[in-house]
Amino acid sequence: MIDYHLHVVAHGDRPMTVENILAYCEVAQERGVLQMGITEHDRYLDEIDVAAFQEAREKTDVELRLGIEIDFVPGKEERMDRDSTALPYDYVIGSVHRVDGEEVDRVTDQTIYEKWDTYRLYEAYYANVREAALCGRFDVLGHPDLIKIFRRFPQRDITEMLEDTADAVSKSGIVVDVNAAGLRKPVGEIYPSRKLLEMFHRRGVPIILSSDAHAPDQVGMGYDRSLPLVRDVGYREVVTFSERERSTLAL
Ligand SMILES: [Zn+2]
Ligand SMILES: [Zn+2]
Repeated sequence: MIDYHLHVVAHGDRPMTVENILAYCEVAQERGVLQMGITEHDRYLDEIDVAAFQEAREKTDVELRLGIEIDFVPGKEERMDRDSTALPYDYVIGSVHRVDGEEVDRVTDQTIYEKWDTYRLYEAYYANVREAALCGRFDVLGHPDLIKIFRRFPQRDITEMLEDTADAVSKSGIVVDVNAAGLRKPVGEIYPSRKLLEMFHRRGVPIILSSDAHAPDQVGMGYDRSLPLVRDVGYREVVTFSERERSTLAL
């Protein structure tokens, strides 16, 4: 099994030392995660210690990969280009966390949901998701329906919006992140929802699996739910990356 989206530095919680990386590897091994990708948020780019990463790689049986999670913000193309090529990544995740520059997943500030009509907010969110998928900068699309995080759902049906998004994702050739972090959030479900995941599967969109861990004990967390989900939807393999080259691993 793989865990391909997780944070060691997290939100500046700890430095990227060999010891801290190995603490994640220890839990990975306990939980049957054979390959683990570290994908810090782009704003912590300077905290990524490639030397520590390389050293840890030699000290663990877990296969380590280095990635990054880029916050997709239209208008910040130059910064995104720079950050997504700054280090010798194995793969690059692009994630939409913002609408009009404002975060949609901030527990301490949810005013964006008061300011916007929820349906319009979802439209703007998924427009960004489609743009992120199609921009060609990213190997993986992070948590594609993060906008549901606080269970603020629109009254109107969003099926068409999701189908359009699945079309764009399929056209782009990007890999989708099946991310269990939603289980730890108010929404209490995996990103993407079963409905959206089925749309991806019907179009042959490949996936990775992740916990989006921000602490060692969260590595592989939620896989008791995400593994049966992806298998049930019909997935039989996940994608792995090495130096931005894609391979597959049987589920
Ligand atoms: Zn994210
Ligand atoms: Zn993340």
